[in-house]
Amino acid sequence: MAEMLQALSVILATAVVLSAAVFYFERWRLARPGGPYAAADFSGIVLLMATTAGWLIWARTADPAQIDKLFWVWASGLVVFLVGAVTDQFKPVLGLRALAAAGVAWWCLYRHDIAITTVKLPFSDEFINLGGAGLVLSMIWLAICGSVFARVGTIPRVSTGVGALTSLTFLAVATLQPQSAAPFATIAAASLALVCLAQLPFTRYLTYAGATAGAYTLGVLLGAISIAGALKNTAFLVAMLPLLVISVPLFATTYSWIADYLRGERRGFWTREHRHVHEILMQQGYSQTQMTSVLLLATAIVCMMAIILVLLIKVTFILKLVILVVGLAAALLVPYAALRLTKPAHPPQPADQYDLFGVRIHRVTMQEAMQRVADFIRAGTPHIIVTSDAAGIIRAQDDPEMRKIMNQADLVTADGAGVVLAARLLNLGIDTRVAGCDMVSEISKVAAEMGRSVYLLGAAPGVAEKAAEKLQEQVPGLQIAGIRDGYFTPAEEPAIIAEIRDTTPAALFVGLGAPRQEKWIVEHMQQLGVPVCIGIGGSLDVISGLKPRAPVWMQRCGMEWLYRSLKEPSRIPRLCALPRILLLTFRELLKAPPAPEQKG
Ligand code: UDP
Repeated sequence: MAEMLQALSVILATAVVLSAAVFYFERWRLARPGGPYAAADFSGIVLLMATTAGWLIWARTADPAQIDKLFWVWASGLVVFLVGAVTDQFKPVLGLRALAAAGVAWWCLYRHDIAITTVKLPFSDEFINLGGAGLVLSMIWLAICGSVFARVGTIPRVSTGVGALTSLTFLAVATLQPQSAAPFATIAAASLALVCLAQLPFTRYLTYAGATAGAYTLGVLLGAISIAGALKNTAFLVAMLPLLVISVPLFATTYSWIADYLRGERRGFWTREHRHVHEILMQQGYSQTQMTSVLLLATAIVCMMAIILVLLIKVTFILKLVILVVGLAAALLVPYAALRLTKPAHPPQPADQYDLFGVRIHRVTMQEAMQRVADFIRAGTPHIIVTSDAAGIIRAQDDPEMRKIMNQADLVTADGAGVVLAARLLNLGIDTRVAGCDMVSEISKVAAEMGRSVYLLGAAPGVAEKAAEKLQEQVPGLQIAGIRDGYFTPAEEPAIIAEIRDTTPAALFVGLGAPRQEKWIVEHMQQLGVPVCIGIGGSLDVISGLKPRAPVWMQRCGMEWLYRSLKEPSRIPRLCALPRILLLTFRELLKAPPAPEQKG
């Protein structure tokens, strides 16, 4: 034990010193254009040198059989590194490295009993001896581990963290199930964990990223440890651990490959030209730190699940399967949701409008919306503003007329927590509501500043009058061109339209309920000749004080819909729009990501 700790301390110290040396050397070198050329795979070299130093110390006292096995694991890493380093100098030929991994699987590992030899079938305690098939399986296993890790290696900084998490998981498994892991496998896992951790602060220049030989080596070593020295009852599960751990980067590759394929760009699965999830994220404005954190969070969740599975080794297969599925789903969904709900560090310059499920919505703050309102009033021609909540978006899916109105409106704002949430999940860069109810007073302010009047049409008799009084209290100097309740017959319409036209208001607030109000505005807009027409639903009821508005804190945290539904249970059926919009959002998320912008 003392020797093991001594050896691990030497590994840590060596790795820190070498990593720091490489870091400062690279910083010095890169500061000098045309300076000394360095193409060495430093991360791989640090890995091999630090482990050699520590293992030599451990070898002085450990059991010779264990030393022998550790030596062959290490030798397999060295062979793969050398083949990788040579092929890296020309053109990365991943197939060659896979071949090398297969070779070492046979020469270094299989011959020394480090291999997948048995499998346990689900629903049975029987172990099947694999015989010669074990060699093939071990070869495939090492090739997969190496290749997948080389893939992770293409993600700057992530590879070191994933390496650390994976080897720490092995260490945890070995500690929790000491009978399942031989001492050499434990020290090998601890060594790799320490080397990766030592490199973490230096990832700027020292990462398995640019240097695929190092990444491949790390992958093969992790693969070898995963199958090394395991006892029968955990052999299968332990062998599955790296697969679980690397499943997240594997998912990233598969995802980008499918996305490319759907766009009609056919590329080999192992080429390095895919757009990876991290590239897509960075293109969307997420910083390196945000992207790294999210990928490592996903890996950490998978690692936790792997450890839980080892702890629950005795429970039934079905339960383990459920844990596996839940864990993998969490590893994908939790980081994704975390990312979508955080703002990108460098958001791309927003376009002024975006498409949400076939409905065009303008990306404006209240202030920007009011600048447009002022422009509309100055222009003098009729304009329509639509405020769209989740119900509006859903209505537009089912009602082509409403969709056309929204897509042709002069300004469509996002009104409602459902729309903002969907837009955020889809990274459309919208995070403020511009609610119809607030627009009434804001538009009134703009009109008053321009010396113009507003007209209030809608709600039950007497309500609009009260609302007008309240508005005049809020906006000093506001002129009311006219008021009319919303319960009129078709026969009365021409007179109402004529009155509105004759009083020449700058803005017309129409509170007849959606979608009737929008359709009414579009039908009569040209006759009315009002520069700003806007459908405001039940806002007059709220402004007049007839119906209470949700407290500000509820509005801020997007809970106004809950408040209104509690106060008016008749609104509850409208809540169906929320799950529908979430469903649409997830369907959109599953679609291929947009193509990258062409450079140059
Ligand atoms: N309304 C109206 N005339 C009608 C039907 C309704 O003026 O023939 C009014 C009703 O009094 C209420 C508003 O339209 O003030 C509809 O409010 P609701 O909250 O239902 O609309 P939303 O805000 O959901 O669009």
